[in-house]
Amino acid sequence: MSEQIEKVKCLIIGSGPAGYTAAIYASRANLYPVLYQGTQPGGQLTTTNEVENFPGYPDGVTGPEMMMQFQAQAQRFGTDVRDGWITKVDFSGDIHKVWVNDEKEIHCETVIISTGASAKYLGLESEQKYLKLGGGVSACAVCDGFFYRGQEVVLVGAGDSACEEAHYLSNICKKVTMLVRRDVFRASKIMAERVKKTENIEILYNMNTVEVLGDGQVVTGVKAKSNKTGEVIDIPATGFFVAIGHTPNTKIFKDYLNLDETGYIVNVPDSSKTNVPGVFVSGDAADHVYRQAVTAAGTGCMAALDAERYLAAKHG
Ligand code: NDP
Repeated sequence: MSEQIEKVKCLIIGSGPAGYTAAIYASRANLYPVLYQGTQPGGQLTTTNEVENFPGYPDGVTGPEMMMQFQAQAQRFGTDVRDGWITKVDFSGDIHKVWVNDEKEIHCETVIISTGASAKYLGLESEQKYLKLGGGVSACAVCDGFFYRGQEVVLVGAGDSACEEAHYLSNICKKVTMLVRRDVFRASKIMAERVKKTENIEILYNMNTVEVLGDGQVVTGVKAKSNKTGEVIDIPATGFFVAIGHTPNTKIFKDYLNLDETGYIVNVPDSSKTNVPGVFVSGDAADHVYRQAVTAAGTGCMAALDAERYLAAKHG
């Protein structure tokens, strides 16, 4: 016998700052939200070490600790937080259908999408090979840096993430070589300066990664080529960290929602509304500009308020 279809007033997909803030507001407004955490409970912040720019934490807080507090706050007001991955949606009708782990079907009056974004890789064959082998390629210094303590690593990227990760690794590793593809950082000045001042970080400008070198099992180095002089160098390293940006996690919505050319959900300006009534978006899934925990939290609040107003208008 098939499981009875569950009906919920407000389903929240994702457990980063956007999802949990939506959950806090939605539960306090008696929308009885159900929140599915996805494959990375707590979202991207769980891979961040120190968060120093979220208001209310004058001494900073670790990403995982902050997310535990977000979760506790949402649960305090009754949010039903569940493990599970939303694998399919059908937004063609008035009631929005979603499937959890390809099995459980839920019918939702409102859906708040807070699925965030995922790390990008270079796409080199050698990079993917050692990534799959678990042999020394990572997109998360905070998750994996510990394995390289006292060793030499290479990191590619020049944004705030790359600087944050390089700085984090410099406290664990003997040496961090940063490969910057242009002759400038994209990162904010303060983050770039911190990296430049760190003794065991060597910055190589105008460098492209050609190949991740290895012995078939683990990484042993990185081949890089100067896009100015053509010089090719081999850098000895046991770890290769990629910090070159993110892709929004919006694939399952593409048949129903308007996405921009890079896959970010297009919201109605000044709101969290999507092109489908009753489906709202918050956080990095729709934001390629600000991408901060605090802006994600702000849009989570907007999504819950918009969902509440939508339901009020629908039911009178
Ligand atoms: P960004 O898009 O800002 O930066 C990506 C970096 O990777 C750029 O320097 C880019 O180079 C480089 N890059 C991209 N593709 C390649 C490639 N194929 N080969 C080599 N290099 C490549 O992403 P981030 O993840 O760093 O940051 C995203 C957002 O999050 C930003 O708004 C940032 O400010 C914010 N953030 C804030 C933090 C904080 O305040 N604590 C921490 C982390 C992120 P190029 O410059 O040449 O394009």
